[in-house]
Amino acid sequence: MIYLDYAATTPVDDRVLQVMLPYFQETFGNPSSVHRYGQKAEAAVDTAREVVAEALSCLPHEVIFTSCGSEADNLALRGSAMAIREQTGARRLISCRTEHNAVSRTVEHLVRYHDFEAVWLEPDAEGVIQPEVLEKAITPDTALVSLMYANNEIGSIHPIRALADIAHKHGALFHSDAVQGAAYLSVDVQKLGVDMLSLSGHKFYGPKGVGALYVRHGTPLIQTQTGGGHEFGWRAGTHNVSGIVGFAEALRLTVAEREARAAHLAPLRDKIIGHVLENIPESRLSGPLASRLPNHASFVFHGVDGNLLLTLLDSAGFACSSGSACKTGNPEPSAVLTSLGLSREWALGSLRVTLGMGNTPEQVESFAQALPGLVEQARKLSRN
Ligand SMILES: *Cc1c(COP(=O)(O)O)cnc(C)c1O
Repeated sequence: MIYLDYAATTPVDDRVLQVMLPYFQETFGNPSSVHRYGQKAEAAVDTAREVVAEALSCLPHEVIFTSCGSEADNLALRGSAMAIREQTGARRLISCRTEHNAVSRTVEHLVRYHDFEAVWLEPDAEGVIQPEVLEKAITPDTALVSLMYANNEIGSIHPIRALADIAHKHGALFHSDAVQGAAYLSVDVQKLGVDMLSLSGHKFYGPKGVGALYVRHGTPLIQTQTGGGHEFGWRAGTHNVSGIVGFAEALRLTVAEREARAAHLAPLRDKIIGHVLENIPESRLSGPLASRLPNHASFVFHGVDGNLLLTLLDSAGFACSSGSACKTGNPEPSAVLTSLGLSREWALGSLRVTLGMGNTPEQVESFAQALPGLVEQARKLSRN
């Protein structure tokens, strides 16, 4: 079986697992306890926070550990939207339909239950929001703009610095979901110019169930998960100490090895893209060719049932995805793909191939050889 779904999740790097292990049994204390068990666990969390701050070029107290990327997105959006409205009355939120559900459904929830107003920006045909599009939509009563760094389904990369600058010029906060971007792009928050940035461990060879939110010092935010005053009072819940230690080590390794990983994967990605577009009739790349994550290839095939294609691929020994992992089994076309202007007949036939550290040129070669026949088979079966 060949795994080609690293955007859904990654295995834990062995070096990460090794640093995590002592925190399950030996150093199991609760960081909030006063005694020495607690102190040792607290020291581990403090060190991890410093490592993450170094990777992001920020201060340790600007890093909030969360239980996942989705929680980081929720805290960023809910916590800042409510805090700003309380301060200034601003109630407009700006985002895009190509966002992960953790952002788009949170915006919808704020509109439906908390009386905010949403403006959804139109991406271009490659799934990118051009700065002019934001410039036109932003108003003085905009509280927050949330636009992702890199897209999970189509691999497109947003010009975050330019977008954040526009938000700030108009007095709005800027949040970015960098859950996919962090594995391959710089997460220097000073250069990106963001107020908040979401990360998740399991997308860069760290453990599942741990994430982080960068919050620039002074950003208006309220606690949205109430209970204890963990994480400087920004969230409640006993620290996942082993997870936090693993998250920090995985991020540190990613920053150190980012260029080498990209250099290994980009040619493999290009081989897949070239091979598909040349050898499979009625196929299109989804997302941009140039401004794309180095491990990410995504396509649409006209008149193909994407889920059927995934099943055929699985039987042939290849694990791929048709977009966001959560959507598999859903017969509705992905909102990301339809927002690019693709018709239902194209959008239902999507395939996402995302590479990672475990992939070799031989694996990519055997995938490229197998795919055209499987697409043809799926197309025939989809017609019946
Ligand atoms: C995976 C993902 C998330 C959610 O992260 P979890 O840690 O799985 O909750 C959010 N945004 C994007 C872009 C993702 O790819």
